[in-house]
Amino acid sequence: MLEQLRGRLVTPESPDWEQVRSGWNLSVDQRPAAVVEAAGPGDVEQVVRYARTHGLQVSAQAGGHGATHALDDTIVVRTDALDELSVDVPARSARVGAGVRWGSLQGALDGTGLTGLPGSSASVSVVGYCLNGGFSWFSRPYGSGAGSLRAVELVDAAGDRRWVDDASDPDLMWALRGGGGNFGVVTAAEVELHPAPAITGGRLMFPIEQAAAVLTAYGKATQEAPESVTLWAYLVHYPQSPALPEAVRGKSFCMVDVITPDGELDGVLATVRSAGTVLSEVIRPLQPSEVADLNSVPTPPQALSLITSAFQEVTPELIGTLLSYAGEPSLIFQVAIRHLRSGGVGGRPGAAAADPVAPYMVLAVSIVPSPELQQAAEDQLRALQEGLLPWRTGYMPPSGLSAWNTLRDCYSEADLTRLREIKRRVDPDDTFVGNFRLP
Ligand SMILES: Cc1cc2nc3c(=O)[nH]c(=O)nc-3n(C[C@H](O)[C@H](O)[C@H](O)COP(=O)(O)OP(=O)(O)OC[C@H]3O[C@@H](n4cnc5c(N)ncnc54)[C@H](O)[C@@H]3O)c2cc1C
Repeated sequence: MLEQLRGRLVTPESPDWEQVRSGWNLSVDQRPAAVVEAAGPGDVEQVVRYARTHGLQVSAQAGGHGATHALDDTIVVRTDALDELSVDVPARSARVGAGVRWGSLQGALDGTGLTGLPGSSASVSVVGYCLNGGFSWFSRPYGSGAGSLRAVELVDAAGDRRWVDDASDPDLMWALRGGGGNFGVVTAAEVELHPAPAITGGRLMFPIEQAAAVLTAYGKATQEAPESVTLWAYLVHYPQSPALPEAVRGKSFCMVDVITPDGELDGVLATVRSAGTVLSEVIRPLQPSEVADLNSVPTPPQALSLITSAFQEVTPELIGTLLSYAGEPSLIFQVAIRHLRSGGVGGRPGAAAADPVAPYMVLAVSIVPSPELQQAAEDQLRALQEGLLPWRTGYMPPSGLSAWNTLRDCYSEADLTRLREIKRRVDPDDTFVGNFRLP
């Protein structure tokens, strides 16, 4: 049956298996049963029908930034070639194939006065991100990536392609907005675009020794900022890598990023600027294409581990804990505090299965320099996560989970029950496996 594929079936016997089986995140030694590089939606339909008749399971994967061992022994459908991309400026929407990355969508928006809701990596897929929550530079004014999903083209458990939106199946649409890949393979999606007439943003850098004062000022600035303005703060320890500019190589900093879609930053930065010695400040007009690359996250595959936790406030206790675990160089490369917003998709709590509901999120990241340090890096991250527990609140979107987390960190028991019921209805034989299975 799979002989009809237009794309490529790659199995453990194929010469390039070792390369093809990996996702972007090399810290997960992903071992699927086979990989199908789909050439189009018809290939996805064939794979699902084949899997059903042979009692196999199917997982979709774009870049593999969210690789986990849940994908082991499944047929992984790679969506890279599903690359259609069209923008409807008057309708403020884009149709994207499942393989389209944020860098491509944002690139298509230059000069339109509109933006999508990219996060910190241009190479993450729009569909994978939105299905898993998606917290963006613009989540404060415009909500989560999941909330911007208007409709999807889905290959369902019968192997049939259908269009799903709030009119045709509101429950399934709710589940797809943050419920991940457990409900079918999305071949394309329609996402909402948002007004961005004058994106302006950039970064202030301070000595790491002033981090306590800068993070305190950051907390105050986020309270004062209008909803259009987003501020993210970081502790960063740059490695001694020749790939880095000499000015930062081997050095540590406290940094604050700021961005707004409408050019209005008046007064927002005064509190932060006055908290320490500004080593560098670059704030300028930005094109939508530049936004997804603001953090300069490396595009080639990396061994990356991370933890994410949500908070109501930036308190002295939170700052003290971050500094005691990550104030000095270690295997934790970066700790970020992201200011999001609470209140659900477009101010409608409960419109998506996963939506950041706490105003602050802490992300700590290790880019593991060699496989033998993987365990030590995870131990350091878990110790920080434990240290943060007393102030942690709310649920995380699945796009913030580490491979070792479970979806229990993302949904209330009531939402989990609802997700399980929808799963039983649309995929009774459990053909589809997301990178995090429904517990
Ligand atoms: C460097 C880096 C930066 C990041 N920055 C952010 C950020 O700022 N904000 C944020 O929210 N997240 C961020 N993430 C997390 C990222 O959004 C998730 O890993 C997400 O899963 C998308 O990555 P991907 O497109 O490579 O997905 P993949 O790893 O390819 O897919 C992840 C899962 O999504 C599901 N899926 C993907 N495509 C489909 C499909 N077509 N149909 C059905 N299910 C599908 C599957 O369950 C799959 O296992 C970042 C990750 C990295 C590594």
